[in-house]
Amino acid sequence: MLTIIQLHALTDNYIYLLHDGESGQTAVVDPAIAPPVLAALSKYGWQLSHILITHHHSDHTGGIAALKAKTGCTVVAAASDLHRIPNVDLDVVEHDVVAIGQHKAQVIATPGHTSGHIVYYFADDGLLFCGDTLFVMGCGRLFEGTAGQLWASLQKLKCLPPETRIYCSHEYSQSNGRFALTLEPDNRALQEKMRQVNQCRANGQATVPSTLAEELATNPFLREDNQAVQQSCAGIGKPAAEVFAAIRHLKDQFSG
Ligand code: ZN
Ligand code: FE
Repeated sequence: MLTIIQLHALTDNYIYLLHDGESGQTAVVDPAIAPPVLAALSKYGWQLSHILITHHHSDHTGGIAALKAKTGCTVVAAASDLHRIPNVDLDVVEHDVVAIGQHKAQVIATPGHTSGHIVYYFADDGLLFCGDTLFVMGCGRLFEGTAGQLWASLQKLKCLPPETRIYCSHEYSQSNGRFALTLEPDNRALQEKMRQVNQCRANGQATVPSTLAEELATNPFLREDNQAVQQSCAGIGKPAAEVFAAIRHLKDQFSG
């Protein structure tokens, strides 16, 4: 089993430590900053073996240099982002496999938020580390890719087993859910999810991870084929990627 430690950093970032007890290997996903990672490593007595990076934004890469210098770990990132991510030892493309002990992560390319964004899918463990591609009830903003690209990226994630646990890099669930409810006020699963999310946040708890099944039932960006969603964004009868673009556009205007 992989032990997962969830660290909070900056305003709303999550950093994940993955520890394989058998081999002793430990990976960190998207270290925004180094100090909380180093503190957790020393608290648990773990040695950092890998840094897994989803994309080049500084709130996902800011801790690389210090962690690399301290631990000499292997830094893994997308081949297409080599020019803008420091200290990379292993550059990967879609279908490549990264192993933490016996636990294998498949690399899936998910351009859209950025052109080089990748996610790490541990099929046997049922875990997805998806950076800023998919959020709880939301998805990443389009900084570099087109809506069509991000839509196609999310189609790949939609095909994973529904029980897959979704570890995204930000705590955006409350505002995402408020937006989702404007599109689908009558979605019971969404209402219930929001109730849980509000309760978690009121108690200072994380709402991440989620599961793919929950996202399929509540996340408007995975529900462009739903009639209520289509109606709310004037997308009835339009191609799925266009409906998706309309939802993304509405979310960009949304302040709530
Ligand atoms: Zn980002
Ligand atoms: Fe981010």
